Amino acid sequence: MGTEPWRASLELRVGAERRETERLLVLLGEIESRGLATAAGFPSLYACLTGSLGFSEVDAVTKLKAARACREFPALRRLLRSGRISMATISAIGPHLCRDNWKSLVRMTAGMPSARVRRIVASFSPREEPRQSVRYTDPGEAPLPRRVEIAFGAREDFLGRLERARALLRSKYPSGRFEDIFDEAIEALVEKADRGSPGRPLEGRRARIGVERPKGRYVPQAVRREVWRRDGGRCTYRASDGTRCEETTRLEFDHVMPFALGGPSRDPDNIRLLCRGHNQFRLRHGNG
Ligand SMILES: [Zn+2]
Repeated sequence: MGTEPWRASLELRVGAERRETERLLVLLGEIESRGLATAAGFPSLYACLTGSLGFSEVDAVTKLKAARACREFPALRRLLRSGRISMATISAIGPHLCRDNWKSLVRMTAGMPSARVRRIVASFSPREEPRQSVRYTDPGEAPLPRRVEIAFGAREDFLGRLERARALLRSKYPSGRFEDIFDEAIEALVEKADRGSPGRPLEGRRARIGVERPKGRYVPQAVRREVWRRDGGRCTYRASDGTRCEETTRLEFDHVMPFALGGPSRDPDNIRLLCRGHNQFRLRHGNG
């Protein structure tokens, strides 16, 4: 049976495809680790694959996860090449591999149908938590506001931080009610997020009349508005060939001359819009 021409032909093609897949994953791992797609003006390698290369989102994620796993555990490449494990399986188990478990996990899942691999991987993930919910517990009577009950699941370390906040604020909130802790935390978070949010006007925030905003890294609203307008609400990163990044979401105000090196926050010429990917790229690879 092994000598039938169709079979020999098929095996030849399948073998060639596996080798090509391995090369593709190695290349993707290399491109990602060196930040080459970001350097060329893409917010991420994922954006490059799904954008200009026409990959589907699922395909791009599958290949990127498999590429990362192969980079971290190069022995997977040989198994992929020989057909003992599929790219889909590598991609599924990739995020769960560590030095201690990779051999046993590969042995367990190699050659297994993907539905069973998914079941195994699901057993590593946290159990399904109660869905987060908000419900009104009492109708409220003017002038008293209505009361609500908020529920959500969280990691244990979150609880640790919550308990620590409660202990630190004990003198301010002796009853230790979660509502008080969250209220203060959320207010500080909104304040902080609002400062970091491009183009957001000051209106609607709690008035701080007569209180100077802290000087330093903080970019004043007037400067933000000017920079936002000047940069057209878009990442300003340009690749060496002149390609400009097209990202218009997840933008951050970046100091051209870093604040730590004396770069001013109040001079619009020293502030620019960068997407998250390019801001991180600049931090890793120097000014771009
Ligand atoms: Zn960008």
